[in-house]
Amino acid sequence: MEKRVYIRTYGCQMNERESESLSVILRNGGYEMVSSEHSANIILLNTCSVREQAEAKAIGKSNLISRGKNREKLVGILGCMAQNLGEILCKKSPNTRLIVGPNRTEKIPTYLDQLLRDKNRRIIDIEMGSIDRDFAAAHDEKKIKASMFVSIMRGCNMHCAYCIVPKTRGPEWYRPMEDIIHEIQWLAERGTKEVTLLGQIVNNYGIQQMPFMDKKSPFVQLLEKVQEIDGICRIRFLSPHPKGFKFDLIDAYGKLSKLCPHVHLPLQSGSDRILKAMRRPYKVEQFSSIITALREIIPTISISTDMIVGFPGETEDDFRATCELFDEIKFDMGFIFKYSIRPGTIAEQFDDHIPQEAKEMRNQILLQKVEYYSRQYNESMIGKVKEVLVESHAKRGEQQLEGYTPEHKKVIFSGTEDLIGQLINIKIEQYGASTLFGKRV
Ligand code: SF4
Repeated sequence: MEKRVYIRTYGCQMNERESESLSVILRNGGYEMVSSEHSANIILLNTCSVREQAEAKAIGKSNLISRGKNREKLVGILGCMAQNLGEILCKKSPNTRLIVGPNRTEKIPTYLDQLLRDKNRRIIDIEMGSIDRDFAAAHDEKKIKASMFVSIMRGCNMHCAYCIVPKTRGPEWYRPMEDIIHEIQWLAERGTKEVTLLGQIVNNYGIQQMPFMDKKSPFVQLLEKVQEIDGICRIRFLSPHPKGFKFDLIDAYGKLSKLCPHVHLPLQSGSDRILKAMRRPYKVEQFSSIITALREIIPTISISTDMIVGFPGETEDDFRATCELFDEIKFDMGFIFKYSIRPGTIAEQFDDHIPQEAKEMRNQILLQKVEYYSRQYNESMIGKVKEVLVESHAKRGEQQLEGYTPEHKKVIFSGTEDLIGQLINIKIEQYGASTLFGKRV
């Protein structure tokens, strides 16, 4: 019986990480992982439900691959969209035979065994359940890289009006701290130098279950423990929430030498009125004061954000407030999203929708600001020698490599393959909107 699986991942880093763990348990279950859908007889789409576009893409893909000569392939839809739509997916994507939510991923090898035995069967499992500790820690030993993602928690207890995540991933669930430390030690022994700790609200780690120690949150305690791990040189995390970004975490930037000088802190809107409508539990002033405090510790810290334009009821004045805040903070990177209605969210009930044209225009304005401040930040790097963690070959040209500075700026330079995985010094000579160029010194 053929057991060749191709996994296609949509959405966030959390999904990337879960696809990696899934490939490990599939291999342990006797499945072969392949890198193209053409050579697979099983295609699994690990999906995202956060944006309408991502959902439409995954459904389109599932229908496309189960047509014509691909009819015999076993197609499965996993992840947030599976959880969100469940049975509805059977209508939208009739040839899909496996539908599994993100909290049941570890069951997939067993389900595939059953589906291969019985070709007329379909399995749907969208139980919330608890998450298997071994699954959360599984990495493919042959694919360990210099920079790795480590999930530290799942789920979210917030109720942002536009967001489907609490429905698809359920309430917060924290991995035991010793599991996380053990996993990072294991990665470090295999050459990993940088870890990015992942969670829906990563700085909420442990908050409901673990005690504060010396006024430090469980998340900051975890950062301190990761700082102690030999071989790990850089620590990043994604994504924190402004609500839990307290002084213990701000102070950590001055105390933990491995904590990278980059923060991705989702703002979503620069208008208090819209933040309230979004049910984001902070005000613009609180957000700004976090940035000011971080810049007092590291003046050159890189600050990136997520913004939503065109949330229901967003007036020209609200958008102007967002632009002004953008100009005040000067985010040097940002992800700008046009609001789209997600069924099952609080905002689905809101009226006063913003015309598509206005969303487009606001989107373009913020994108221009991102580019402007990104170029400004990158220009300030010219002439500096930056430590770069070399990650891979660059897409452009032979002998071109790429890696990242501690501020998470991509750098392209000439070099040989043996440098991949190493920390080296690069003098920055040129810049573009999102990339720096330099040479080894
Ligand atoms: S904090 Fe808000 S936006 Fe982020 S995952 Fe939770 S509900 Fe969604």
